[in-house]
Amino acid sequence: MIVAIDGPSGAGKSTVAKAVARKLGFSCLDTGAMYRAIAWKALDTGVDLSDEEALGKLADECKIAFEHDEGDPIARRVLIDGEDVTAAIRTAEIDKAVSPVSATPAVRAALLVQQQRIGSEGNFVVEGRDIGTTVFPDAACKVFLTASPEERAHRRVRQNVDRDLGSIDYEEVLADIIRRDKVDSSREVSPLKPADDAHHLDSTDCYIEEIIDQICAMARAAQAQAQG
Ligand code: C5P
Repeated sequence: MIVAIDGPSGAGKSTVAKAVARKLGFSCLDTGAMYRAIAWKALDTGVDLSDEEALGKLADECKIAFEHDEGDPIARRVLIDGEDVTAAIRTAEIDKAVSPVSATPAVRAALLVQQQRIGSEGNFVVEGRDIGTTVFPDAACKVFLTASPEERAHRRVRQNVDRDLGSIDYEEVLADIIRRDKVDSSREVSPLKPADDAHHLDSTDCYIEEIIDQICAMARAAQAQAQG
């Protein structure tokens, strides 16, 4: 069974997806990390981000893997062609590079195949932008999670401090969030938009635990219904 969680960056998808997966005993797939890994590889190997053919070839040929600690369903490390890029894909440089990469149709086609293959291997909570619309349109439970851009920027600033990644400028972060929302929502292939049958949840003024509990309840109801 698939629980699809889509929404813009900073809405709390990762935190929510991981907690929901743990509570349900599902695995968790972060599709954003896959686009980030391709962006990292493109920068690392000097591929021009406007060269669609080269980006598509790179996405086709590279191997993205998620490594888990023993017994933990949540991946701890992201590897591309054997190189651990877990930290390297979370920099501001990758935040900027990932939009043109994810707007490239050939990259999306390559990652779609990989995502569907991983998801077919068991029960998964899958988070991204187009999971309920394109990757798993038949997902049993679909959620579109949002929060205001200002709240998302505040969270990102706090997260950097918590992770000891240094301070970042709130206004710059806000501008980048608004820019990425625009690119993600207006691209031709698989734009960021809710599936018609998605449940809309807003985490702006809500405790994240409430959101997690709501999604678990919806997923359990969908599971019970599927089992008749
Ligand atoms: O979720 P995260 O912010 O890590 O995703 C990074 C980028 O990857 C997004 O800004 C978006 O451009 C892209 N993405 C996507 N489709 C997905 C997941 C992420 O286009 N399913």
